[in-house]
Amino acid sequence: MARSSYQAPRGTFDVLPAEKRIRRRVESVAIATLSRAGYEPIATPVFEDTDLFERGVGRSTDVVRKEMFTFEDKGGRSITLRPEGTAPICRAYLEHGMHKLAQPVKLYYRGPFFRHERPQAGRYRQFHQVGLETIGSDSPLADAEAIMLLSDLLAELAVPGVQLRLGSLGSLGSRKEYLEELKAYLRSHEAELSKEVRDRIDLNPLRAFDADDEGTRAVMASAPTLVERLDGDDARHFAEVRSLLEAAGTPYEIDPTLVRGLDYYTRTIFSFVCPALGAQSEVGGGGRYDGLIEQLGGPPTAAVGWAAGIERIMLAMGAESAPTGRDVFLAAAGDDQRQRALALAIELHHAGLSAEVDLAGRGLKGQLKHANRIGARNVLILEEDGSLQLRGMETGDQRPVAPSAVLDELQGEHR
Ligand code: AMP
Repeated sequence: MARSSYQAPRGTFDVLPAEKRIRRRVESVAIATLSRAGYEPIATPVFEDTDLFERGVGRSTDVVRKEMFTFEDKGGRSITLRPEGTAPICRAYLEHGMHKLAQPVKLYYRGPFFRHERPQAGRYRQFHQVGLETIGSDSPLADAEAIMLLSDLLAELAVPGVQLRLGSLGSLGSRKEYLEELKAYLRSHEAELSKEVRDRIDLNPLRAFDADDEGTRAVMASAPTLVERLDGDDARHFAEVRSLLEAAGTPYEIDPTLVRGLDYYTRTIFSFVCPALGAQSEVGGGGRYDGLIEQLGGPPTAAVGWAAGIERIMLAMGAESAPTGRDVFLAAAGDDQRQRALALAIELHHAGLSAEVDLAGRGLKGQLKHANRIGARNVLILEEDGSLQLRGMETGDQRPVAPSAVLDELQGEHR
């Protein structure tokens, strides 16, 4: 039977024009902020070989175990819609020999990502991220710069109530020892843990810090933390990142229980949250991933990066859709004037003004109403006798204007 109505697939949404304008603003502020600091744009395909994410993100993570949109293509290859941007960018870095360029390579990206999660406010199956990667530097300066740029971006968009949480996971070597200690601790409290955490003690013990259930949370409140056990180099690196943030006046709080959902992180991790958003309160986060490029078959390469969710940022901004407004609406008092109105509008476009004409055959009154609806600042009325009247929509003032003066008048307004 034919379906009478279709809806966007579960967890996805359409971006309608009014919202698109706010999105565009978020993206353009992001691009401006990151370009100013010398980051360059990169774009990778929306799908990759599944193996890239299994290896890069980690087989024990929720993202890989449960959330990937994976399918077989016609050639029998396993393909996955990208759930995140870092592994693909590291793949591109290696594929294009970017390790031979002056380091670090500083990149940013934006676009859609896909995770088969249970949809709720702020959590979608197709969402959009803007992200940054600094590949080829182990300097704490790179960590601090990345964090400050995300902080700046959120400040420039006036996202209210943002808090920065900071932690360190140590390097892969030093983490091993800690993970054994944590596993032993978890085993000694097995009965109090949720089944999910219990089943993953060996696979991914750090995720116990992220659990929601009360039993696990109570156990984790007294669990040993990595931040307390960082060894010499890791501790120095972390102290340096902290002092750089302090010197720059970027407020943060240390969160010893901070973990991230992807396996590749080492040393610094951070998360920008807006508690007012509720359950899905993180607007952006990231960290250092010194082992990932090697894991993907490249040379040892230190790197740091973050990703921020565009929808989360918009939710936190409480952004309301607003009409863009137009410089002028050209209203034809009679049908004879419609052709001239269109020609004049095109002329105004060439001069850089936004101008519209009626395409729906409205009478003059209807055109004025429509001009108001689309937020036109001025209406140029083309009278039946060919004379022109310029009306300021805010003041309601209306006066005759000579055809040769129209552009000057409107550009004066525009400035
Ligand atoms: P991650 O790639 O998991 O580190 O997430 C980075 C950011 O992407 C988060 O802080 C969120 O703002 C956003 N994000 C992640 N997953 C989703 C999702 N399913 N829906 C909407 N935004 C998301």
